[in-house]
Amino acid sequence: MEKEVRTRFAPSPTGYMHIGNLRTALYTYLLTKSKGGKFILRIEDTDQERYVEGATDVIFKTMKDTGLIHDEGPDIGGEYGPYVQSQRREIYKEYAEKLVELGGAYYCFCTKERLDDLREKQEAAKVPTRYDGLCSRLTKAEVEAKLAAGEPYVIRQKMPRYGKTTFHDEVFGNISVENAILDDNVLLKADGLPTYNFANVIDDHLMHITHIIRGSEYLSSTPKYNLLYEAFGWEIPTYIHVSPVMRDATKKLSKRDGDASYEDFIKKGYLKEAIVNYIALLGWSPGGDREKYTLEELIDIFDIKGISKSPAIFDENKLAWLNGEYIRELSEEEFHEKALPWYEGVITNPNIDLREVSRLLQKRCEKLSDIPEQVDFFDSLPEYDIDMYTHKKMKTNPENSLVSLERAYEALEKVEDWTFDNIHDTLISLVSELGVKNGVVLWPVRVAVSGKAFTPGGGVEIAYILGKDETLKRIKIGIEKLK
Ligand code: GLU
Repeated sequence: MEKEVRTRFAPSPTGYMHIGNLRTALYTYLLTKSKGGKFILRIEDTDQERYVEGATDVIFKTMKDTGLIHDEGPDIGGEYGPYVQSQRREIYKEYAEKLVELGGAYYCFCTKERLDDLREKQEAAKVPTRYDGLCSRLTKAEVEAKLAAGEPYVIRQKMPRYGKTTFHDEVFGNISVENAILDDNVLLKADGLPTYNFANVIDDHLMHITHIIRGSEYLSSTPKYNLLYEAFGWEIPTYIHVSPVMRDATKKLSKRDGDASYEDFIKKGYLKEAIVNYIALLGWSPGGDREKYTLEELIDIFDIKGISKSPAIFDENKLAWLNGEYIRELSEEEFHEKALPWYEGVITNPNIDLREVSRLLQKRCEKLSDIPEQVDFFDSLPEYDIDMYTHKKMKTNPENSLVSLERAYEALEKVEDWTFDNIHDTLISLVSELGVKNGVVLWPVRVAVSGKAFTPGGGVEIAYILGKDETLKRIKIGIEKLK
């Protein structure tokens, strides 16, 4: 029987969910679920200085929102907990000591002063700065004496001085490094906490992780991890490194630019389904041109072979387009509920039926944050220039627009029952009476009622929502402008 696939998403609690991290979580989830495996959430909080209040909740909430539901984790437990690194101190200590016994690590008692001095000398000599291995030469008795005397210590990984370490990555192929360039990194710090480089290996092994998906920035550390697995005699997992998400050819998406986190995009009015769909295809492709997939569909077709080595560029226009497709699929009710907060303070006139506005918008909205500027004219007619009446394709100019508006005013004034169909039929009869193209009447009406060149609907729809009085008032203003 094939071994059960077990994977983990191991974020550090930074207080926000970077899009690149969310994509790592998504790929990990998709790989796992496509193989019927178990997806584990582990919180990597060994860097206590970077601790941010409430940050773990951001992780839980994002995972839940996006549907990346874990099978084991800090909130739901599991067989291999605890799933928060700061609660696993004793475990790391035990394994660091075991590694010393196995010969893969050693105690180091060097003081900060000595290490600073060493670094300065190496910098001055322009050689790579790294630990010189002094304490690796201490005898067992010397180490014991120092420990007994309570000297502070760290535990360092003992790197081989010769040979090469090679590992295989599913995306990047085989990678080799010369062992001579590897530093004897600290595994267990003086405060008893592990470094990330140590904790992740111990946890991945103890949690029976079979596949590791993480950012390509970890490629260079992987040989060190493999040396740890080997020293313990543990099975090495399958590695899948993914390239970063870029803002353009040279810059990564960054929190500082306000375009890096999941929450930033939610605030901008993107739907979570669209975000998940978009980032799935950001650096992974199932082949073909199809661009719209639900999470369930992604599980069915996910294959790590489709992960690309080259960095992916985040194209917000594309996300906006996809988001528009998702907006179109919502029920009227769902869309209206999502749109409502965006009308606040923008449409305050109680005569405007917001449901009708939503009906209009849903057909043309790409993201919810566009709503205020799409609908601001309902409350009051903006200032506009009469140049807007000139439209080449509609064959309008200020002269024929004036005629159209005057005649439209007369005709619409007679409409008793202000329904969409009645307004429409009235204007279309006017078109045939005048013997002109539709645009010659409809374009000036649209400009007059909205004061805008781009509106979420045509003149008839807008007039209907505005009501008879307001429509006539606005057409009159148009007439006055054009006279
Ligand atoms: N805690 C690491 C991070 O947030 C995880 C890296 C890994 O997946 O091993 O970058």
